[in-house]
Amino acid sequence: MADRLRENYAKIRERIDHALIRTGRTVGDATLVAVTKQVDFSVVQRLYELGHRDFGENRPQALAEKADQLPNDIRWHMIGSWQTNKIRKILPHLHLAHSIDRLALAEAVSAESIRQSRPALPVLLEINVSQEETKHGFSIDAVREVFSSLASLPGISVRGLMTMARFEADPEQCRATFRQLRELREALQRQSSWELPFLSMGMSNDFEVALEEGANLVRVGSALFEGVVA
Ligand SMILES: *Cc1c(COP(=O)(O)O)cnc(C)c1O
Repeated sequence: MADRLRENYAKIRERIDHALIRTGRTVGDATLVAVTKQVDFSVVQRLYELGHRDFGENRPQALAEKADQLPNDIRWHMIGSWQTNKIRKILPHLHLAHSIDRLALAEAVSAESIRQSRPALPVLLEINVSQEETKHGFSIDAVREVFSSLASLPGISVRGLMTMARFEADPEQCRATFRQLRELREALQRQSSWELPFLSMGMSNDFEVALEEGANLVRVGSALFEGVVA
């Protein structure tokens, strides 16, 4: 079954490259974050052996457990909603937190990062572009109001924005959401003179559309692990 993983991985990387080329971007301009929430650590280990290093988890507990069992040159991405009582435990493992969805969380992560004497943690602000009640994240209006407070927190470094599009049978329907996130990034940069290089958008169903709209981090789980058994 290791071959299935190898095939899926090659296919996803090829689709990413094609989407970049098609829009006049450079191959290597986007990072694939392999979302491992549905697989156990032995599968992560196999993907690691294929040379992959960027992995994402949506639950702090699972991230900490996998990080403890796996090589420490993995770049761990926190992509899920996050209770402040879990910050202490996962902070030492994190490369990038994509899911800063409220000011109180940003303040708590910043304070803990300082308490642990760490360099400012790179973070993305999660934006609920599609305004679904079930989704986490700042609204577009709210983030414009609190952006300067977020950017001035000393223990974090705001590096960009993240969103989850509504699930659509036709991923073309997600394009407007991705475009709105890119436009918000531009508006925030103009408003603050703060550089926001990263746009984390696109999942198994819609990553190619997201790349066409400027994503440089795509978070892919099910398409990568389809048919792979531990
Ligand atoms: C699960 C998850 C993904 C990956 O979703 P797939 O559809 O399995 O590719 C991406 N982002 C977040 C925040 C997730 O929770």
